Amino acid sequence: SERTLSIIKPDAVERNLTGAVLKMIQDEGLKVVAMKMIHMTKEQAQGFYAVHRERPFFDSLTDFMCSGPVVVAALEGDDAIARYRKLMGATNPDNADEGTIRKLFALDVEKNTVHGSDGPETAAVEISYFFNRLEMV
Ligand code: ATP
Ligand code: MG
Repeated sequence: SERTLSIIKPDAVERNLTGAVLKMIQDEGLKVVAMKMIHMTKEQAQGFYAVHRERPFFDSLTDFMCSGPVVVAALEGDDAIARYRKLMGATNPDNADEGTIRKLFALDVEKNTVHGSDGPETAAVEISYFFNRLEMV
């Protein structure tokens, strides 16, 4: 089995969608092995999205990600990274498949409700960015 990092982003926490998103994650059969609510500083958001530092949307994205609380979680299951990205849907909700989290809930390409790691190496880095061993089941 495999682990991935999920973030329920500020747009979703703000609209009380945390429970609805977690239900979709659990209905998919992914297991929550660590979870907490945090409110990131700008510096913490910049650190998390360091790989996107050169992208034109970096400043706006990191402002958004520290605009309110988020729920970070580590998810576990067979093929968890790909399964969670499929459940999230495309980055831009206009392109997301029916029944995906982003199709149902995302507001636009930036305020798109959830984050999921894009590969095994980034998953390991991202999980350890938020959780230490004592915080993981
Ligand atoms: P995530 O990494 O959050 O799971 P993703 O892998 O689908 O999403 P990335 O290309 O890694 O998308 O972009 C990271 C995040 O940056 C997106 O989820 C979105 O919030 C924001 N973003 C991506 N593209 C744009 C854009 N063109 N304009 C504004 N924000 C964007
Ligand atoms: Mg990404």
